Amino acid sequence: MDLKNQVIKQAKNLGFDLISFSNLSVDDDTKKYYLNWLKKNYNASMQYMEKNIELRFDLNKLFNTYKSMIILSLNYYQPTQKDNLGENISIYAYGRDYHKTIKGKLKKIINFLKENNIKARGFTDSAPILEKYFAEHSGIGWQGKNSLIINKKLGSYFFLAEILTDYDFGQKELATNHCGTCRKCIDACPTGAIVADKIIDSNKCISYLTIEHKGNIPKEIKLNMNDLIFGCDICQQVCPWNKKVKLTKEQDFNFRYMDIQPKDILKLNEDDFNKLFQGSPIKRAGYEHFISQINRISK
Ligand code: SF4
Ligand code: SF4
Repeated sequence: MDLKNQVIKQAKNLGFDLISFSNLSVDDDTKKYYLNWLKKNYNASMQYMEKNIELRFDLNKLFNTYKSMIILSLNYYQPTQKDNLGENISIYAYGRDYHKTIKGKLKKIINFLKENNIKARGFTDSAPILEKYFAEHSGIGWQGKNSLIINKKLGSYFFLAEILTDYDFGQKELATNHCGTCRKCIDACPTGAIVADKIIDSNKCISYLTIEHKGNIPKEIKLNMNDLIFGCDICQQVCPWNKKVKLTKEQDFNFRYMDIQPKDILKLNEDDFNKLFQGSPIKRAGYEHFISQINRISK
């Protein structure tokens, strides 16, 4: 078996659902699109997105010996819970923090590559990599109007991770777009955050507002945030490509808060909160921010 197929086999054994390969170049249209998005302040307070622009556009500037990217996806889909905290949070936060789960898996692939004298470094949201661009250009899926990567079989409920290597794995084909005339995500977004095809204004997006935003939320938006307190899946829930997706096989992502209501969390002090959400993405939002979101829906 050649090296590429050995990597694919190992990644499948580790539970990754899709594995593909790309070179490291970014096209000019994507650069223009990204700069325009920043110019309009659609990144809101996420100033880190304005940093390392040159590196985002040319990974060789940082990793000049790397030639290829391995792109991996891991399904996290499970149905939305009813009558507990699961109703109020995005399903990506139901179980263990995906950064931790994916990091362990990447390490195994990286060790295998190193044993074969290949230099390799893994990332999951941890470097200025335009991961949606590479996912689309390696055929993992197309970027839907909701800006998420969609695969015909897997839908969009999956995490992306990347491994940069100095071995040339070649390039797969660009994914074709299957949104067609559909605009269900645009129509369903309660805050009007999808301002154009594939363009999200983070200032209006519930995911950003409930996770990263630390200040006040404008009243007109607050009124339309439903009862969401950590993330938002609405533009995924309505997408036709998510109607027949399979359950995740990753046990780390299993829902952990079966008997907990948001109001129960209001009774916790910070230590109890940290214990309850140990290892969860919710812990990253911080006690005060999470409590403020629960207070918002309790009024
Ligand atoms: S995550 Fe929610 S608020 Fe953000 S674009 Fe999708 S539907 Fe709109
Ligand atoms: S809801 Fe429709 S337009 Fe939106 S991402 Fe899915 S297929 Fe594309």
